[in-house]
Amino acid sequence: MKKILFNNIGKSINYLKHVEHLFSDYDLIRGKHFSNLCYEELQPHFLNSHLLLTHSATGALEIIAHALDIKNGDEVILPSFTFVSTVNAFASRGATPVFIDIEPDRLNLDIDLVERAITSKTRAIIAVHYAGHSCDLNRLKKICEKHSLVLIEDAAMSFGNTFEGKQLGGIADFGVISFDVTKHISAVQGGLLIVNNEKYKIRTNNIYHIGTNRSDFTKGIVPYYEWVDVGSKYQMNELNAAFLYDQLKIKDDIIQKRKTISKSYFSGLKSLSELEHFLMMNESLIDSNIHEFYLVVKSEEDRHKLSAFLNEKGIESMFHYIPLHSATKGKEIGRFIGSNETQKASERLLRLPMHNELTEDEVEYIIQTIRTYYES
Ligand SMILES: *Cc1c(COP(=O)(O)O)cnc(C)c1O
Repeated sequence: MKKILFNNIGKSINYLKHVEHLFSDYDLIRGKHFSNLCYEELQPHFLNSHLLLTHSATGALEIIAHALDIKNGDEVILPSFTFVSTVNAFASRGATPVFIDIEPDRLNLDIDLVERAITSKTRAIIAVHYAGHSCDLNRLKKICEKHSLVLIEDAAMSFGNTFEGKQLGGIADFGVISFDVTKHISAVQGGLLIVNNEKYKIRTNNIYHIGTNRSDFTKGIVPYYEWVDVGSKYQMNELNAAFLYDQLKIKDDIIQKRKTISKSYFSGLKSLSELEHFLMMNESLIDSNIHEFYLVVKSEEDRHKLSAFLNEKGIESMFHYIPLHSATKGKEIGRFIGSNETQKASERLLRLPMHNELTEDEVEYIIQTIRTYYES
């Protein structure tokens, strides 16, 4: 039997055709033909925001830290349960990360703890929407206004997910989305910086264009472009943009398929969760669940056994982040506020296969295998 993979390469229908087209004309590459087509697809999701396609969400976060002039001694507040890129962008510029515990409901940063973390050195709060499930951005915005802080959304996993009807990433001062191959809409590798606060638009543009005012030149505002700031090469390359464009054209199908898988898992595993073998995300989140489907089992040992059992039956499953506050670098430079929710999620969370090639039969087989594990 063929192994059921946890994830798979995103579907591509016209990619090879796009690449052939791209290589037929130097001006298409130079003119960023596919990046421009991607912007046309993406802009309607963000209305008035300024969008910049990057080589990764990691790169997009670095542009933000750069645009905010984050420096030695500054503090940033973020959840401990996130990917290293969220913290690295700021830590690499000398900031002290202040890690907040998560709440057990959505595994997002626990907003009740945030005000306790704020000091005179705090510059920004980075809200990670775990699994694409939104943080309460209204509450976070109020806290940021009160203390004059910048609010950043790490919406890396959140394309297609909303808060009060608005696409995540498009609500705080800045947002980032990832189009990595591990995410549900993919450029193979890529990201998006979303600049929502007008105040930062020019600076981020210059940093993005390797510290030049190239975008003014492109618009015909200046006769030539020159070095105006520090910056780096953060752009997405055209091969990735061609792949992303292909994926964006079928994004509704991709998202729908993943929602269907989520619903099947949820209804197939509901009775086991009612018997308290594990926790699942709240039913109210299932209709909009796109990025991943996870269980939070009772102990690290149980997770180890379940994942080994699944593996034996040809099913790949994955856990997720190691808490940043207890990681080597986190202990060296960070602070932590909270109790043990991050630790618990880190030890007990197991993600089930979720990708476009997954068939209904396979999902049913995975459900049955989990049932067998708990019922025998
Ligand atoms: C994937 C991910 C990132 C990094 O995205 P890349 O595009 O791989 O750089 C950052 N933050 C979170 C929460 C992620 O899930």
